Amino acid sequence: MSIGIVILGRQGAGKGTQAVRISETFGVVHISTGDMLRAAAAEGTELGLEAKLIMDAGNLVPDDVINGIVKERLLKQDAQRGGFLLDGFPRTVGQAEALSGYVGGKLQLAINLDVPIGEVIARMLERGRDDDTTEAITRRLELYEVKTAPLLDWFSDEGILEVVDGSGTEEAVFERLVSAVSKVHAV
Ligand code: ADP
Repeated sequence: MSIGIVILGRQGAGKGTQAVRISETFGVVHISTGDMLRAAAAEGTELGLEAKLIMDAGNLVPDDVINGIVKERLLKQDAQRGGFLLDGFPRTVGQAEALSGYVGGKLQLAINLDVPIGEVIARMLERGRDDDTTEAITRRLELYEVKTAPLLDWFSDEGILEVVDGSGTEEAVFERLVSAVSKVHAV
């Protein structure tokens, strides 16, 4: 059976970079909701333009919208066959419940890539994405604590949570992630 992994962690924790490397190493499909929304914004679709306003303010796209986008993506053959690594989703308990409804037992690992708040702020200001203004960063981190952090307990209750220390060099973090994923999936 193909595998499902989710990677959680504060904005700026390095999820995106590491998720790409992990998905290549383990041959699973990398699904980043942030990348999908930014692509829709760049295309100028109605959904994309609405999402851009929400992203630039640091707010969350409504659950029903993002749940639909993810469900559609997960139904594609590559994700069905090779498994998936979700990056940036779920971000709320409602999203986690929807995901669990779509994929059930395929979800085998939830990683919390753990980086302290002071460090992620510095990293985001360096990266300088469109939505990396001080106001939007503050708002995103606030929402993370309120809406997303409760998911750590949710996945812990499911028995699939692994905490990985996200501080240090990219290489050191990658190695820690590889060993966490290796417990549930062969390289
Ligand atoms: P970051 O981790 O720095 O927030 P992402 O690329 O994951 O960057 O997300 C960028 C923005 O896209 C978020 O601030 C939010 O507005 C929107 N977004 C991404 N994923 C979700 C999601 N699962 N639910 C709601 N909004 C989302």
